[in-house]
Amino acid sequence: MTRLTNMSMRTRHLSVLQIPIWVFDVHTLRFVWANAEGLRLWEAPDLEELRLRDISVDISQAVRTRLSQHAEDLKSTVDATTEYWTFYPKGKPQSYECVISDFDAESSEPWLMIHALKKDDSSSIDTLYRANALLHTSLFVSVYDHGGKELYSNPAARAIFGSQHSLAEQFCEQENWQLIERQLHQQGHVSTEARVHTLSGEAWHSMTLETCPNPVDGGNAILVSEYDVTEAREARRKIHELAFTDTLTGLPNRAYLLDALSNKIHVARQNSHYLAVFFIDLDRFKVINDSLGHAAGDNLLKAVAKRLQDCIRNSQLVARLGGDEFTVLLDALIDKDDAIVVADRIVESLSEPLVVGNHELLVTPSIGVSYYPEHGDSGNTLMQHADMAMYSAKTAGGGYKFFNSAMLTNVRERLLIEGDLRYALKDEQLTVHYQPKIETQFGQVIGMEALVRWNHPTRGMVPPMEFISVAEETGMISQITRYVLRTAMRQQCVWSALGHDVSVAINISPREFRSGDIALVVQQALEETGCDPAQVELEITESMLMADSGLVHSTLTSMKDLGIKLSIDDFGTGYSNLVYLKKFPLDSIKADRAFLMDTDQLAVLEMIIDMGKRLSLSVVAEGVETREQLNWLLEHDCDELQGYLFSRPVNAEEATEYLRTHHSWLQKMPKSA
Ligand code: C2E
Ligand code: MG
Ligand code: MG
Repeated sequence: MTRLTNMSMRTRHLSVLQIPIWVFDVHTLRFVWANAEGLRLWEAPDLEELRLRDISVDISQAVRTRLSQHAEDLKSTVDATTEYWTFYPKGKPQSYECVISDFDAESSEPWLMIHALKKDDSSSIDTLYRANALLHTSLFVSVYDHGGKELYSNPAARAIFGSQHSLAEQFCEQENWQLIERQLHQQGHVSTEARVHTLSGEAWHSMTLETCPNPVDGGNAILVSEYDVTEAREARRKIHELAFTDTLTGLPNRAYLLDALSNKIHVARQNSHYLAVFFIDLDRFKVINDSLGHAAGDNLLKAVAKRLQDCIRNSQLVARLGGDEFTVLLDALIDKDDAIVVADRIVESLSEPLVVGNHELLVTPSIGVSYYPEHGDSGNTLMQHADMAMYSAKTAGGGYKFFNSAMLTNVRERLLIEGDLRYALKDEQLTVHYQPKIETQFGQVIGMEALVRWNHPTRGMVPPMEFISVAEETGMISQITRYVLRTAMRQQCVWSALGHDVSVAINISPREFRSGDIALVVQQALEETGCDPAQVELEITESMLMADSGLVHSTLTSMKDLGIKLSIDDFGTGYSNLVYLKKFPLDSIKADRAFLMDTDQLAVLEMIIDMGKRLSLSVVAEGVETREQLNWLLEHDCDELQGYLFSRPVNAEEATEYLRTHHSWLQKMPKSA
């Protein structure tokens, strides 16, 4: 009642004015009151009809927000504000310049009083569109006076900055604002991205600031339009990070490295410094990854990444190139020998076992190092040369090697071998040699190990060490395995027919074993040659057993089911996990010849022999070259022997002759003497 009385008092003198005036409730979006001119503008027959009108359908969200902002501002700080508005009484657009004020400052009611001052004619359509655009755009548009005090904000700007904000306060970094202000002063225009304070916290805005005359008083003003780029910047940052980071280890990736390398070369050139590029490859990684699973492989790579980082100073760079390949970049080297110190540190650090899950794993690193400027003055060349040096280190069994020009020939060599080997397979240049195995009880030849040879038209006899790894890398190994299996089995049939009770042993490469169909390949070869499976033995390496996977077990079981024998080659050089020996259906172990060569290692060989007895596995000593070695082996009751002392690997003809002439070593052996 009081409110209405109050209202009628306030509206009484307004009723007589000849300009349209009305009071509007921003909350309910309903008319509260209008004078006669107001009713005419709205084409209402009386106040009742106007009050009952539901015009909320004509009011967009942007306009609602704007009205609420006006109500709020007018209640607190601002007296009145002017805007161009277009109304739609009965659907027809009518444009006015409106002065908006708070109807009753005493009350909390969001009632706006609107004076529709001057009907705008069609000449200012442009102004109307602009006003409408400003109202609806999601761009934050504000006008400030030359001191940065806010004069106007469109609804979007008002919503994020609040009312009465100043331009300087908007910037999170004041130095940023000072810089922009200076530029604005000099150039009249600045486009930038800046971190700003908003009502909902800090954000990044893309801003365009322009000096312009203040349309109201002709003074200097600053027009600022801006929009939020926080998400876009974050997305950009993520993309950048993804493009330059290895997601698994968090280290910089290849792209980052190449970029950094060319920058660092530039700096090294200017300062006459050295630069060292390390190419690091983990020798056993592939085996671990394939056998323990990718999760273990991933954890191993992370652990290696961490160790490498610990080996260098913070300012230097470790990157992962992919797979098990890492790079270390040492820049600003004054003394080249500093790289040796780091290489030693890496080798030492990585030779400590890494604990991954329940496993203690060893990864031998092979490291190749190249220097700027000695070994190349471009990133690519330095990387290539470090890679070659790494290859050379790998061939030498791990550790590190510095690049030298002789390595260029080695790489070419491998390429040549690859090309020639493809041809060799077609042209039947491969052949199989045989090396006898002697049992120690009666000194008889009980087996022949098949060792592949490549009879190269110009190079002569190429040993397997020089081409097996190339064949493994290129997949040609499966053809070689098939060839050796068939040839050796056929040869066994020939020896059998001649009355020699001798088995043949064939080496299976890890890659072939992992392919999963090796049992089938062996079965086919047995069927094709008609060879007695009991006279066939396959030599596999310890690394193949490492996996506790079903595949290893099922492959070994299906091979055993064929009736063949299985032995572990080069035993003692790999993981030598004794559990595997018990777990899998094996027949014998071949102790690596390294044990025999080094008298300090004989104790290990003794243990292997002893262990073989306990596990009912026969132990074969490889690489018997001297009588002393032979005597030692006989004394220690080793089961079988193989080595140059008895025979080098020889061709099929010579092997047949050997079988014919060597019925027994018995008489030559001290044990039986
Ligand atoms: P492995 O299976 O351990 O073969 C024994 C190697 O030691 C042979 O070298 C043999 O000539 C050599 N050797 C035998 N007795 C002695 C000795 O008393 N003293 C010394 N110093 N060495 C001796 P080879 O024929 O050069 O073969 C090297 C390796 O190449 C083999 O090691 C085997 O891992 C691989 N290999 C050979 N043939 C094949 C094949 O057909 N398939 C696969 N996948 N690998 C093969
Ligand atoms: Mg072998
Ligand atoms: Mg061996």
